[in-house]
Amino acid sequence: MQTDIIIIGTGISVKLTALYLNLHGFNVIVFHNQDVNQDKSNLVTFLSSGSIKFLNKILGENRALHNYEDIKQLCCIHHNQLDKDNFQFNFDNNKEDFLGKIVPNNKISELLDQLIHSNENINIISNELIDHLKHHHNHLEIITKSTSSISAKLLIVADGKNSMIKSYADFNFITHDFEQTALSITAKVDRKSQNIAYQYFTSEGPLALLPYSKSHSSVVWSLKKHSQILNFSEKKLQDEINNILGSKVNGFEIVNFQKFNLSFSFAKKLFSKRIAITGDTAHSIHPIAGQGLNLIIKDIDCLTKQLIKYKSLGYDLGDSIALNEYNKLRKSDNVAYSFGTIILDEILSTENKYVRKLTNSVLKSFNQSERLKRFFVDSATGYTNFKNL
Ligand SMILES: Cc1cc2nc3c(=O)[nH]c(=O)nc-3n(C[C@H](O)[C@H](O)[C@H](O)COP(=O)(O)OP(=O)(O)OC[C@H]3O[C@@H](n4cnc5c(N)ncnc54)[C@H](O)[C@@H]3O)c2cc1C
Repeated sequence: MQTDIIIIGTGISVKLTALYLNLHGFNVIVFHNQDVNQDKSNLVTFLSSGSIKFLNKILGENRALHNYEDIKQLCCIHHNQLDKDNFQFNFDNNKEDFLGKIVPNNKISELLDQLIHSNENINIISNELIDHLKHHHNHLEIITKSTSSISAKLLIVADGKNSMIKSYADFNFITHDFEQTALSITAKVDRKSQNIAYQYFTSEGPLALLPYSKSHSSVVWSLKKHSQILNFSEKKLQDEINNILGSKVNGFEIVNFQKFNLSFSFAKKLFSKRIAITGDTAHSIHPIAGQGLNLIIKDIDCLTKQLIKYKSLGYDLGDSIALNEYNKLRKSDNVAYSFGTIILDEILSTENKYVRKLTNSVLKSFNQSERLKRFFVDSATGYTNFKNL
């Protein structure tokens, strides 16, 4: 079997990559792991307004995302019940009508699956396991455990942060264990204001209130691994969060919660010979700024643009000139958000009162600088990347 591009993985990144490449005329085969077909997590994603534009390109006439509330303001609160110096600041100076939307991951997957399964040009292989890869002069070959062979000009790997590619010497990763567990909570929440997401910087760790429907919101609370809160009963956890959300809600009732260990992984290079990486394989970052999937979407857009450009100039799809350009163009954004979120998490959740005081004054200055805030909003909402989409 032969194709332009083989993509390996089963998550949202693979579905987005396959559909976006196909939209631009490339033939793709997806190597899917059928054992992890269903995303059973209760995670939601803050999709920036730029990412929503990108998704709408893929979803076309499907208006399913329109039903999700527009987030027009992100209210950040430096929270410490004992500290009188608490303060808050808002991000709302957006060039688009809204900052983004919060959508459950299983809804995003469901919408993409419907399109993939009805697309005759996307071939899915879900009953084969990969045995090894063989490099040839002008193509790459995947040999499966059942000895079938599939050839392509380019292989894109997006099989998550524990990727098979980690055993290939060509790729190097920077890794770090945050020693944190994120509590992802689905809750019935009666909010006092609409169109606002909240980020509380508590001394236990950052807590985000992410509304995705009139009656339901998600709370993501990144806690230190030894935090007592991870052992709280549902009732005690509910009281604790009610205490923090305080004046912003009339009621907060937990529906379910799950735990996710947080670790960091960052690929020093996004390609090697005829192989490109994307998704959490390329960078798996702290959820504090809600940017993981948004960065991935910018990567997919950039990779696709380079493949189109260099194909039109007569290069073959796996040529390192296009892949090198992808790597170069995505470097600064990926480094800024991946390592920036580590620093942000460290300084905002410290218990040291002197550092907290210093952080408070830095954040107050930041809050007063409209220029700095606008620069940050333009980048985090994907405005800079997707204004012409
Ligand atoms: C608590 C939390 C909150 C988050 N909040 C946000 C947010 O608000 N905004 C945001 O932008 N991002 C957010 N993220 C990040 C976002 O969820 C991830 O970046 C995104 O889901 C990664 O998708 P992926 O497809 O790259 O990886 P994965 O979801 O890990 O998918 C990869 C899949 O490939 C499968 N696989 C492995 N090996 C193979 C193989 N050989 N063949 C086929 N398949 C294989 C794996 O089993 C896995 O299912 C959050 C993450 C967490 C943990």
